[in-house]
Amino acid sequence: MAEAAEPGPRRLWIRDPRAILAEGAGGGIVVAGTRIVECVAAGAKPAGPVDETFDASRHVVIPGLINTHHHAFQTLTRAHPLAINKPLFPWLKALYTVWGRITPEAFRLATRVALTELLLSGCTTAGDHHYLFPKGLEESVDIQVAEARDLGIRAAITRGSMSLSDREGGLPPESLTQDDDTILADCERVLNLFHDPAPGATVQIGLAPCSPFAVTQRLMRESAELAARHGCRLHTHLGETLDEDSYCQSMFGCRPVDYLEEVGWLNDRVWLAHGIHFNDAEVARLGKAGVGICHCPTSNMTLASGRCRTCELEAAGSPVGLGVDGSASNDSSNLMEGVRHALMINRLTYGAEAVTHRDVLRWATEGSAACLGRSDIGRIEPGREADLALFTLEELRFSGAHDPLAALVLCGATRADRVMVAGRWRVIDGQPLGVDTGMLREAHSRLALDLFGGA
Ligand SMILES: [Zn+2]
Repeated sequence: MAEAAEPGPRRLWIRDPRAILAEGAGGGIVVAGTRIVECVAAGAKPAGPVDETFDASRHVVIPGLINTHHHAFQTLTRAHPLAINKPLFPWLKALYTVWGRITPEAFRLATRVALTELLLSGCTTAGDHHYLFPKGLEESVDIQVAEARDLGIRAAITRGSMSLSDREGGLPPESLTQDDDTILADCERVLNLFHDPAPGATVQIGLAPCSPFAVTQRLMRESAELAARHGCRLHTHLGETLDEDSYCQSMFGCRPVDYLEEVGWLNDRVWLAHGIHFNDAEVARLGKAGVGICHCPTSNMTLASGRCRTCELEAAGSPVGLGVDGSASNDSSNLMEGVRHALMINRLTYGAEAVTHRDVLRWATEGSAACLGRSDIGRIEPGREADLALFTLEELRFSGAHDPLAALVLCGATRADRVMVAGRWRVIDGQPLGVDTGMLREAHSRLALDLFGGA
């Protein structure tokens, strides 16, 4: 097992990168403690003395990617025969029946697998939307926070919820739901325990009813009030499929965005997963309110859910970020792959000149940071946290590539060589520090088979 990294030196110069996604940093950057303190112009030297130098001449350096939507537990049911080749609602109903069997140990390993995959793909801030709290998994958020801290990845964990079972017009079975009081008490508990609203925070908690149609109206309203009291973010699934529109119409007699407004969720504390099926007026309303949209291209293509109106939403004022979405609808947790998929599906929608590699990298970094309400991560510039992903272009797939930044996206980089979170290396030579990936895969896949192999 590799040893955990020592704290970084006082001033580290990451010098002369092959390419870097930052203004005026051709000569690299200086990191001190957890932050970037200087961008060095090409051919120049840092203004002050440095304690250590890292030669980045083999590396393309980008801000660490930020994942704004995932369900780590779903790594246990990837490519499951019950669910493959189905659209969202039948896919969900098939999987609900098996997800109730997840044990705390399986959930811990599932979280570890998802976070490690993300980290290896160049992700430095991992969002997870966990909404399954069956008997025995009541302390899921605690498990996720412990795993993120152990791996050293920055985390935005959202406490999900489902309180409307199929008996009350919802989708999930009763065994997967909790009552509103239990949910609200646990939201308050985990906010008090783990949420750090300060700049540089390594763990933040958000509140995230699974969808507005999986919980009561009271829970939507009280979640919003609780989030305002604690200064945390609000998240949910919305506008993922056309089925959802008709479901909302029959249940509430309105469209999803109208319902969102009615329960006090049309504001800039909120970011939504997917956000596909909005009409022009709804795009304008969401943009005006500053509601963020997490675009999940891989999942949207896998479930054939539709195409997010990313460019219109961004132009209207909504931050647009990226997410891998759960590993049963993706079925991987590779955010760099998601960046490439975002380029492709959006070019199909808007044309080859309208969406560039820089646009999709911006969504995965600055855009995602804005969805999480953070201005301390997402860009390489002095004062921001030192969250970085460094890729080499040494695989055969990059041979003959000219523009190094474009090559990352167009040739399909999937694995970072080095990853730094808050000034500390967490991936070196493509390996996560402190994780034996072979042992992890063996333990996780054994449990997945034991729990879900028989369907
Ligand atoms: Zn999702």
